[in-house]
Amino acid sequence: MKELLKNLIRAKSTLDTGEIKCANVLADFFRSAGIKPNVEVWNKTRANITVRIKSTGKKPALLFVSHLDVVPAQQAGAFEPIERGGKIFGRGACDMKGGITSVAVAMAEILHSKVKLQGDVIFTATAGEETDSAGVKKFLKSQKTWPKFAGIIVPEPTNFDLVYAHRGLLWLQIITKGKSAHSSMPQLGINAIDSMKMFLNKLENFKIPGVNKLLGKASISVNKIIGGSAANIVPDLCSVQIDIRTIPGQKTSWIVGEINKILARLSKQNPRFQADLKVLRDSGSLQTDEKCEFVKRSKQILNKHLTAVPFTTDAPYLTVFKSPIVIFGPGKPQLCHKPGEYIDIKDLKKAVELYKKIILHFLG
Ligand SMILES: [Zn+2]
Repeated sequence: MKELLKNLIRAKSTLDTGEIKCANVLADFFRSAGIKPNVEVWNKTRANITVRIKSTGKKPALLFVSHLDVVPAQQAGAFEPIERGGKIFGRGACDMKGGITSVAVAMAEILHSKVKLQGDVIFTATAGEETDSAGVKKFLKSQKTWPKFAGIIVPEPTNFDLVYAHRGLLWLQIITKGKSAHSSMPQLGINAIDSMKMFLNKLENFKIPGVNKLLGKASISVNKIIGGSAANIVPDLCSVQIDIRTIPGQKTSWIVGEINKILARLSKQNPRFQADLKVLRDSGSLQTDEKCEFVKRSKQILNKHLTAVPFTTDAPYLTVFKSPIVIFGPGKPQLCHKPGEYIDIKDLKKAVELYKKIILHFLG
Protein backbone atom coordinates (compact mmCIF):
# COMPACT_ATOMS: atom_id res chain seq x y z
CA MET A 1 0.00 0.00 0.00
CA LYS A 2 2.70 2.49 1.02
CA GLU A 3 4.76 1.56 -2.06
CA LEU A 4 1.80 2.25 -4.36
CA LEU A 5 1.27 5.70 -2.86
CA LYS A 6 4.98 6.52 -3.06
CA ASN A 7 5.12 5.46 -6.71
CA LEU A 8 2.06 7.56 -7.46
CA ILE A 9 3.69 10.62 -5.84
CA ARG A 10 6.91 10.04 -7.87
CA ALA A 11 4.82 9.88 -11.05
CA LYS A 12 4.46 13.66 -11.29
CA SER A 13 1.05 14.54 -12.71
CA THR A 14 0.81 18.30 -12.98
CA LEU A 15 -0.81 19.93 -16.00
CA ASP A 16 2.57 20.42 -17.75
CA THR A 17 3.70 16.79 -17.42
CA GLY A 18 0.28 15.18 -17.86
CA GLU A 19 -1.14 12.18 -16.04
CA ILE A 20 0.16 9.30 -18.16
CA LYS A 21 2.99 8.20 -15.83
CA CYS A 22 0.63 8.13 -12.90
CA ALA A 23 -2.00 6.18 -14.88
CA ASN A 24 0.67 3.59 -15.77
CA VAL A 25 1.69 3.15 -12.12
CA LEU A 26 -1.93 2.39 -11.26
CA ALA A 27 -2.32 0.14 -14.31
CA ASP A 28 0.68 -1.95 -13.14
CA PHE A 29 -0.81 -2.22 -9.67
CA PHE A 30 -4.21 -3.37 -10.94
CA ARG A 31 -2.63 -5.81 -13.41
CA SER A 32 -0.63 -7.46 -10.65
CA ALA A 33 -3.84 -7.69 -8.58
CA GLY A 34 -5.58 -9.49 -11.47
CA ILE A 35 -7.76 -6.55 -12.54
CA LYS A 36 -7.51 -5.50 -16.18
CA PRO A 37 -6.86 -1.76 -16.51
CA ASN A 38 -8.14 0.42 -19.31
CA VAL A 39 -5.87 3.45 -19.89
CA GLU A 40 -7.20 6.14 -22.20
CA VAL A 41 -4.49 8.47 -23.54
CA TRP A 42 -4.87 11.72 -25.50
CA ASN A 43 -2.52 14.58 -26.46
CA LYS A 44 0.37 12.17 -25.76
CA THR A 45 0.57 12.91 -22.02
CA ARG A 46 -2.98 13.17 -20.73
CA ALA A 47 -4.61 10.03 -19.39
CA ASN A 48 -7.51 8.43 -17.52
CA ILE A 49 -7.50 4.95 -16.08
CA THR A 50 -10.64 2.91 -15.45
CA VAL A 51 -11.08 -0.58 -14.01
CA ARG A 52 -14.10 -2.71 -13.32
CA ILE A 53 -14.69 -5.72 -11.08
CA LYS A 54 -17.42 -7.79 -12.68
CA SER A 55 -20.15 -9.39 -10.59
CA THR A 56 -23.32 -11.43 -10.91
CA GLY A 57 -24.99 -8.13 -11.85
CA LYS A 58 -27.98 -8.73 -9.59
CA LYS A 59 -27.52 -5.40 -7.79
CA PRO A 60 -26.82 -1.89 -9.09
CA ALA A 61 -23.11 -1.04 -9.33
CA LEU A 62 -20.89 1.30 -7.31
CA LEU A 63 -18.74 3.96 -8.96
CA PHE A 64 -15.59 5.53 -7.50
CA VAL A 65 -14.34 8.68 -9.25
CA SER A 66 -10.96 10.20 -8.38
CA HIS A 67 -8.40 12.44 -10.10
CA LEU A 68 -4.80 11.68 -11.07
CA ASP A 69 -3.56 15.24 -11.43
CA VAL A 70 -2.00 17.40 -8.73
CA VAL A 71 -1.31 21.12 -8.47
CA PRO A 72 2.30 22.27 -9.12
CA ALA A 73 4.79 22.45 -6.23
CA GLN A 74 7.38 25.18 -5.73
CA GLN A 75 9.57 23.48 -3.13
CA ALA A 76 12.32 21.12 -4.26
CA GLY A 77 11.73 17.42 -3.68
CA ALA A 78 7.94 17.63 -3.55
CA PHE A 79 7.70 14.68 -5.93
CA GLU A 80 10.09 12.52 -3.92
CA PRO A 81 7.96 10.93 -1.17
CA ILE A 82 9.29 10.91 2.38
CA GLU A 83 8.02 8.56 5.09
CA ARG A 84 8.46 10.01 8.57
CA GLY A 85 6.60 9.73 11.88
CA GLY A 86 3.81 7.55 10.50
CA LYS A 87 3.16 9.95 7.64
CA ILE A 88 3.93 10.03 3.94
CA PHE A 89 4.87 13.48 2.65
CA GLY A 90 4.79 14.57 -0.99
CA ARG A 91 2.72 16.48 -3.52
CA GLY A 92 -0.62 14.72 -3.92
CA ALA A 93 -0.25 12.55 -0.79
CA CYS A 94 -3.45 14.10 0.51
CA ASP A 95 -5.11 15.46 -2.67
CA MET A 96 -5.75 12.78 -3.73
CA LYS A 97 -3.27 10.00 -4.35
CA GLY A 98 -3.93 8.77 -0.79
CA GLY A 99 -7.62 8.26 -1.58
CA ILE A 100 -6.74 6.58 -4.90
CA THR A 101 -4.34 4.20 -3.10
CA SER A 102 -6.95 3.23 -0.52
CA VAL A 103 -9.69 2.47 -3.07
CA ALA A 104 -7.27 0.52 -5.31
CA VAL A 105 -6.04 -1.58 -2.38
CA ALA A 106 -9.63 -2.15 -1.15
CA MET A 107 -10.62 -3.42 -4.63
CA ALA A 108 -7.56 -5.70 -4.86
CA GLU A 109 -8.28 -7.16 -1.40
CA ILE A 110 -11.93 -7.79 -2.23
CA LEU A 111 -10.99 -9.58 -5.45
CA HIS A 112 -8.38 -11.60 -3.58
CA SER A 113 -10.89 -12.61 -0.86
CA LYS A 114 -13.03 -14.29 -3.55
CA VAL A 115 -16.34 -12.95 -2.21
CA LYS A 116 -19.05 -13.05 -4.87
CA LEU A 117 -20.11 -9.49 -5.53
CA GLN A 118 -23.74 -8.94 -6.56
CA GLY A 119 -22.98 -5.66 -8.33
CA ASP A 120 -19.99 -4.31 -10.33
CA VAL A 121 -17.40 -1.94 -8.88
CA ILE A 122 -16.14 0.64 -11.36
CA PHE A 123 -13.18 2.83 -10.43
CA THR A 124 -11.77 5.66 -12.49
CA ALA A 125 -8.93 8.11 -11.92
CA THR A 126 -9.16 11.00 -14.35
CA ALA A 127 -7.07 13.85 -15.69
CA GLY A 128 -7.25 17.57 -15.04
CA GLU A 129 -9.61 17.94 -12.09
CA GLU A 130 -7.51 20.87 -10.85
CA THR A 131 -7.56 22.66 -14.22
CA ASP A 132 -9.91 21.79 -17.07
CA SER A 133 -11.84 18.68 -15.95
CA ALA A 134 -10.84 17.17 -19.33
CA GLY A 135 -10.57 13.68 -17.85
CA VAL A 136 -13.99 13.39 -16.27
CA LYS A 137 -15.60 14.68 -19.49
CA LYS A 138 -13.77 11.97 -21.49
CA PHE A 139 -14.73 9.35 -18.91
CA LEU A 140 -18.42 10.17 -19.31
CA LYS A 141 -18.10 9.64 -23.07
CA SER A 142 -15.96 6.50 -22.78
CA GLN A 143 -18.89 4.10 -22.76
CA LYS A 144 -22.18 4.10 -24.62
CA THR A 145 -24.11 2.40 -21.86
CA TRP A 146 -23.55 2.40 -18.16
CA PRO A 147 -24.92 0.14 -15.46
CA LYS A 148 -27.30 1.61 -12.94
CA PHE A 149 -25.33 2.91 -9.94
CA ALA A 150 -26.51 2.49 -6.36
CA GLY A 151 -24.22 5.39 -5.56
CA ILE A 152 -21.08 7.30 -6.51
CA ILE A 153 -18.17 7.90 -4.13
CA VAL A 154 -15.54 10.57 -4.72
CA PRO A 155 -12.57 9.66 -2.46
CA GLU A 156 -11.26 13.23 -2.07
CA PRO A 157 -9.77 14.15 1.31
CA THR A 158 -12.60 14.94 3.74
CA ASN A 159 -10.84 13.62 6.86
CA PHE A 160 -13.53 10.89 6.87
CA ASP A 161 -16.43 13.34 6.92
CA LEU A 162 -19.35 12.23 4.78
CA VAL A 163 -19.88 15.14 2.42
CA TYR A 164 -22.99 15.54 0.31
CA ALA A 165 -22.87 19.20 -0.72
CA HIS A 166 -20.36 21.73 -1.96
CA ARG A 167 -20.37 25.08 -3.72
CA GLY A 168 -19.79 25.57 -7.41
CA LEU A 169 -17.37 27.98 -9.05
CA LEU A 170 -17.57 30.47 -11.85
CA TRP A 171 -14.39 32.24 -12.97
CA LEU A 172 -14.85 35.34 -15.09
CA GLN A 173 -12.44 37.62 -16.86
CA ILE A 174 -13.50 41.18 -17.65
CA ILE A 175 -11.35 43.28 -19.95
CA THR A 176 -11.97 46.99 -20.33
CA LYS A 177 -10.63 48.63 -23.45
CA GLY A 178 -9.43 52.20 -23.85
CA LYS A 179 -7.07 54.27 -25.95
CA SER A 180 -3.44 55.05 -25.12
CA ALA A 181 -2.24 58.64 -24.94
CA HIS A 182 0.51 60.61 -23.26
CA SER A 183 -0.74 61.20 -19.75
CA SER A 184 0.12 64.92 -19.89
CA MET A 185 -2.93 65.08 -22.19
CA PRO A 186 -5.18 62.33 -20.78
CA GLN A 187 -8.23 63.84 -22.51
CA LEU A 188 -6.83 62.47 -25.82
CA GLY A 189 -7.02 58.90 -24.58
CA ILE A 190 -9.55 56.60 -22.91
CA ASN A 191 -8.34 55.28 -19.58
CA ALA A 192 -9.10 51.56 -19.32
CA ILE A 193 -8.36 51.57 -15.58
CA ASP A 194 -10.96 54.31 -15.05
CA SER A 195 -13.44 52.12 -16.96
CA MET A 196 -12.55 49.15 -14.76
CA LYS A 197 -13.08 51.31 -11.68
CA MET A 198 -16.60 52.11 -12.87
CA PHE A 199 -17.33 48.42 -13.37
CA LEU A 200 -15.88 47.34 -10.02
CA ASN A 201 -17.92 50.00 -8.21
CA LYS A 202 -21.09 48.57 -9.75
CA LEU A 203 -20.00 44.99 -9.03
CA GLU A 204 -19.74 45.84 -5.34
CA ASN A 205 -23.51 46.29 -5.19
CA PHE A 206 -24.27 43.12 -7.14
CA LYS A 207 -25.68 40.38 -4.93
CA ILE A 208 -26.58 36.85 -5.96
CA PRO A 209 -29.85 35.92 -4.23
CA GLY A 210 -30.22 32.72 -2.19
CA VAL A 211 -29.02 31.12 1.04
CA ASN A 212 -28.18 27.46 1.69
CA LYS A 213 -28.46 26.16 5.24
CA LEU A 214 -25.02 24.48 5.04
CA LEU A 215 -23.13 26.56 2.53
CA GLY A 216 -24.40 30.06 3.29
CA LYS A 217 -24.49 32.58 0.44
CA ALA A 218 -22.65 32.86 -2.84
CA SER A 219 -19.38 34.81 -2.69
CA ILE A 220 -17.71 37.13 -5.18
CA SER A 221 -13.99 37.85 -4.98
CA VAL A 222 -11.93 39.95 -7.42
CA ASN A 223 -8.58 38.14 -7.34
CA LYS A 224 -6.41 39.43 -10.16
CA ILE A 225 -6.02 42.79 -11.87
CA ILE A 226 -3.65 43.79 -14.63
CA GLY A 227 -3.54 47.14 -16.36
CA GLY A 228 -1.27 49.86 -17.67
CA SER A 229 2.37 49.90 -18.72
CA ALA A 230 4.01 53.07 -17.39
CA ALA A 231 3.39 56.04 -15.12
CA ASN A 232 3.06 58.42 -18.07
CA ILE A 233 0.87 56.42 -20.47
CA VAL A 234 -2.92 56.32 -20.37
CA PRO A 235 -3.66 52.58 -20.25
CA ASP A 236 -5.58 51.03 -23.13
CA LEU A 237 -6.32 47.72 -21.40
CA CYS A 238 -7.25 46.56 -17.95
CA SER A 239 -8.33 43.07 -16.98
CA VAL A 240 -9.66 41.46 -13.84
CA GLN A 241 -10.34 37.87 -12.90
CA ILE A 242 -13.23 37.19 -10.57
CA ASP A 243 -13.92 34.03 -8.60
CA ILE A 244 -17.62 33.50 -7.84
CA ARG A 245 -18.61 30.58 -5.62
CA THR A 246 -22.22 29.52 -6.05
CA ILE A 247 -24.62 27.51 -3.92
CA PRO A 248 -26.95 24.76 -5.20
CA GLY A 249 -29.88 26.19 -7.16
CA GLN A 250 -28.02 29.20 -8.57
CA LYS A 251 -27.65 29.26 -12.33
CA THR A 252 -24.30 30.50 -13.64
CA SER A 253 -25.99 31.57 -16.90
CA TRP A 254 -28.15 33.95 -14.86
CA ILE A 255 -25.07 35.40 -13.10
CA VAL A 256 -23.20 35.89 -16.40
CA GLY A 257 -26.33 37.51 -17.85
CA GLU A 258 -26.61 39.97 -14.93
CA ILE A 259 -22.94 40.96 -15.14
CA ASN A 260 -23.29 41.47 -18.88
CA LYS A 261 -26.25 43.75 -18.12
CA ILE A 262 -24.04 45.84 -15.81
CA LEU A 263 -21.49 46.19 -18.64
CA ALA A 264 -24.21 47.06 -21.16
CA ARG A 265 -25.68 49.74 -18.85
CA LEU A 266 -22.23 51.29 -18.33
CA SER A 267 -21.53 51.52 -22.05
CA LYS A 268 -24.97 53.02 -22.65
CA GLN A 269 -24.35 55.70 -20.00
CA ASN A 270 -20.82 56.32 -21.19
CA PRO A 271 -19.99 55.79 -24.89
CA ARG A 272 -16.25 55.63 -24.03
CA PHE A 273 -16.83 52.56 -21.86
CA GLN A 274 -15.99 49.33 -23.64
CA ALA A 275 -15.63 45.91 -22.04
CA ASP A 276 -15.71 42.19 -22.76
CA LEU A 277 -16.63 39.32 -20.50
CA LYS A 278 -15.22 35.82 -20.82
CA VAL A 279 -16.11 32.73 -18.78
CA LEU A 280 -12.84 31.04 -17.78
CA ARG A 281 -14.31 28.18 -15.79
CA ASP A 282 -17.79 27.07 -14.87
CA SER A 283 -18.19 24.15 -12.54
CA GLY A 284 -21.41 23.28 -10.78
CA SER A 285 -22.29 22.93 -7.13
CA LEU A 286 -23.36 19.67 -5.54
CA GLN A 287 -26.28 18.76 -3.35
CA THR A 288 -27.26 15.12 -3.01
CA ASP A 289 -30.66 14.29 -1.54
CA GLU A 290 -29.87 13.56 2.11
CA LYS A 291 -32.95 11.38 2.47
CA CYS A 292 -32.10 8.92 -0.30
CA GLU A 293 -31.38 5.30 0.52
CA PHE A 294 -27.68 5.40 -0.42
CA VAL A 295 -26.92 8.41 1.77
CA LYS A 296 -28.96 7.08 4.70
CA ARG A 297 -27.24 3.70 4.59
CA SER A 298 -23.76 5.19 4.07
CA LYS A 299 -24.36 7.36 7.14
CA GLN A 300 -25.29 4.29 9.14
CA ILE A 301 -22.46 1.97 8.10
CA LEU A 302 -19.80 4.65 8.40
CA ASN A 303 -21.39 6.09 11.53
CA LYS A 304 -21.01 9.66 10.26
CA HIS A 305 -23.04 12.85 10.13
CA LEU A 306 -23.53 14.59 6.83
CA THR A 307 -21.61 17.74 6.12
CA ALA A 308 -20.65 20.18 3.36
CA VAL A 309 -17.26 21.51 2.21
CA PRO A 310 -16.30 24.87 0.74
CA PHE A 311 -14.09 23.44 -2.06
CA THR A 312 -15.32 22.04 -5.39
CA THR A 313 -14.76 18.67 -7.08
CA ASP A 314 -15.58 16.94 -10.36
CA ALA A 315 -18.70 15.47 -8.69
CA PRO A 316 -21.22 17.81 -10.41
CA TYR A 317 -20.23 16.29 -13.80
CA LEU A 318 -21.39 12.93 -12.46
CA THR A 319 -24.95 14.11 -11.81
CA VAL A 320 -25.75 12.92 -15.39
CA PHE A 321 -25.86 9.41 -13.91
CA LYS A 322 -28.79 10.50 -11.74
CA SER A 323 -27.33 8.53 -8.83
CA PRO A 324 -26.57 9.82 -5.34
CA ILE A 325 -23.03 11.20 -4.92
CA VAL A 326 -20.99 11.48 -1.72
CA ILE A 327 -17.44 12.68 -1.13
CA PHE A 328 -15.59 10.65 1.45
CA GLY A 329 -11.89 10.01 1.92
CA PRO A 330 -8.72 10.05 4.02
CA GLY A 331 -6.58 13.16 4.48
CA LYS A 332 -7.10 16.61 5.93
CA PRO A 333 -8.57 19.01 3.37
CA GLN A 334 -6.64 21.94 4.86
CA LEU A 335 -3.35 20.33 3.69
CA CYS A 336 -4.39 20.33 0.02
CA HIS A 337 -2.32 22.45 -2.40
CA LYS A 338 0.12 23.42 0.39
CA PRO A 339 3.84 22.76 0.90
CA GLY A 340 4.39 19.88 3.33
CA GLU A 341 1.27 18.02 2.16
CA TYR A 342 1.08 14.59 3.84
CA ILE A 343 -1.19 11.72 4.75
CA ASP A 344 -1.21 9.60 7.92
CA ILE A 345 -0.47 5.96 7.12
CA LYS A 346 -3.07 4.86 9.68
CA ASP A 347 -5.68 6.92 7.77
CA LEU A 348 -4.79 5.09 4.55
CA LYS A 349 -5.39 1.77 6.30
CA LYS A 350 -8.62 2.99 7.88
CA ALA A 351 -9.82 4.16 4.43
CA VAL A 352 -9.11 0.73 2.90
CA GLU A 353 -11.29 -0.89 5.59
CA LEU A 354 -14.10 1.65 5.17
CA TYR A 355 -14.17 1.40 1.35
CA LYS A 356 -14.29 -2.39 1.67
CA LYS A 357 -17.15 -2.02 4.15
CA ILE A 358 -19.09 0.19 1.71
CA ILE A 359 -18.50 -2.20 -1.22
CA LEU A 360 -19.46 -5.29 0.77
CA HIS A 361 -22.50 -3.58 2.28
CA PHE A 362 -24.01 -2.48 -1.04
CA LEU A 363 -22.76 -5.29 -3.27
CA GLY A 364 -22.20 -8.25 -0.93
ZN1 LIG B 1 -8.70 16.91 -5.24
